[in-house]
Amino acid sequence: NVSVVLFTADLRLHDHPPLRAAAGGGRQVVPLFVRDRGVADAGFGCANRLAFLADCLADLDAGLRERGGRLVVRSGDVVDEVAKVVAETDADEVHMAADVSAYAHRREERLRAALEADGRRLHVHDTVTTAVAPGAVTPAGSDHFAVFTPYFRHWDRHPSRDVLGAPRAVRVPDGVGSEPLPAREDVSGTSPGLAAGGEREARKRLTAWLRDGIGAYEDRHDDLPGDATSRLSPHLHFGTLSPVEAVHRAREAGGPGAEAFVRQLAWRDFHRQVLAARPASSAADYRTRHDRWRSERDARDDIEAWREGRTGYPVVDAAMRQLRHEGWMHNRGRLLVASFLTKTLYVDWRVGARHFLDLLVDGDVANNQLNWQWTAGTGTDTRPNRVLNPVLQSRRYDPDGTYIRRWVPELAGLDRAFVHEPWKLRGLDRAAVDYPDPIVDLAEGLERFKRARDRD
Ligand code: FAD
Repeated sequence: NVSVVLFTADLRLHDHPPLRAAAGGGRQVVPLFVRDRGVADAGFGCANRLAFLADCLADLDAGLRERGGRLVVRSGDVVDEVAKVVAETDADEVHMAADVSAYAHRREERLRAALEADGRRLHVHDTVTTAVAPGAVTPAGSDHFAVFTPYFRHWDRHPSRDVLGAPRAVRVPDGVGSEPLPAREDVSGTSPGLAAGGEREARKRLTAWLRDGIGAYEDRHDDLPGDATSRLSPHLHFGTLSPVEAVHRAREAGGPGAEAFVRQLAWRDFHRQVLAARPASSAADYRTRHDRWRSERDARDDIEAWREGRTGYPVVDAAMRQLRHEGWMHNRGRLLVASFLTKTLYVDWRVGARHFLDLLVDGDVANNQLNWQWTAGTGTDTRPNRVLNPVLQSRRYDPDGTYIRRWVPELAGLDRAFVHEPWKLRGLDRAAVDYPDPIVDLAEGLERFKRARDRD
């Protein structure tokens, strides 16, 4: 009796319901990862995520080997490759995690049809990639919540399943061929400060976070230079950390920091249940204002300056340079650069979302596209008046300018009076600083935004 476990965004051994179910009753298991051509063709294979993925696969393979097994890697169309492995091993069932994107839904349907036509079964497990399954909590008369706060009230009360341990042994049938694992070193164009991936790394980070970080999270999560968030997002994205376990262990830690952290994990599930119910929401623009964004051609120079971190607004540039250097950006940075692009420069959120997905190691269709829409005011929760002033944000969340000086070395010599607004320097002092003037006047940007909004 052989089961196949198809790993996707759940690259771990701890708290893994598909693996637990597949290996039950002493069955043999083929732990399979398919380097899915469909994902690459969709332009979703950025260097940072590919390098992080290589770490995750190496670590998953090492963990399986410690338990007597190994990881089987194939490349191609995911459905074809699963069918081949099923035929080679005469497996009678395939287990995998439920996921939310339109692509994941199609993959599941195609897999189910292919397997059932051949007399095999597909088992899709909930609460592997989310803490609460999409659709498990719903408002009266709808299949999803459009606004976070009521969602959170229900989510927080929803009973959780138990956290599962890693299997002690995994028996893989003999003779199943695998390609070599991809290596991080083979990926070119990665960010120099990219974090390391893999389940062991995720578990170390979670433990350290619960011990040293979470207590101060409520007070410090917006502190740009303090960098006092968990940095668990890539691990949640690749599933090297289970969201059920993260919620469980944070609740065990207790206190206001843990409560605030759990609330952020609920945001992740929130976006997932929106995307699961409205697959088009990752690309669509609910409101009508999108046809009035500036054209990409007209805004080309502004977009380029934004991408490269030379807009002349130090905190925006610092955050954009952090993104390029680490493949990650602080949440406060994401909020303010997204607001700057969409509200101040008045550029379509999709231009920004694409750039983020090209670089973010945690780049995620649900979290990225829906957070961008939330910021742009085009999403389900439309508060289109949310505009963040980069100078006020900078003074508030980086009062000494430490974050700016870390990422914009041209400004390292400025004191706190000028570091947020170097254009206020005069004469020789200004000439000594090799840093651009602002590409847009904030008041003018706001006027343009208001004019467009008032036409809605
Ligand atoms: P922590 O503050 O430690 O939070 C813990 C976890 O909660 C995060 O790892 C994440 O999984 C979840 N979380 C926190 N904030 C949010 C949020 N607003 N929405 C959904 N989940 C959240 N997050 C991604 O994982 N991938 C993305 O592609 C992504 N794109 C974003 C784009 C924009 C424009 C904005 C404003 C936010 C985006 N976020 C995205 C959400 C958030 O910025 C990151 O999850 C967070 O900065 C990751 O750092 P952390 O793990 O230290 O977070």
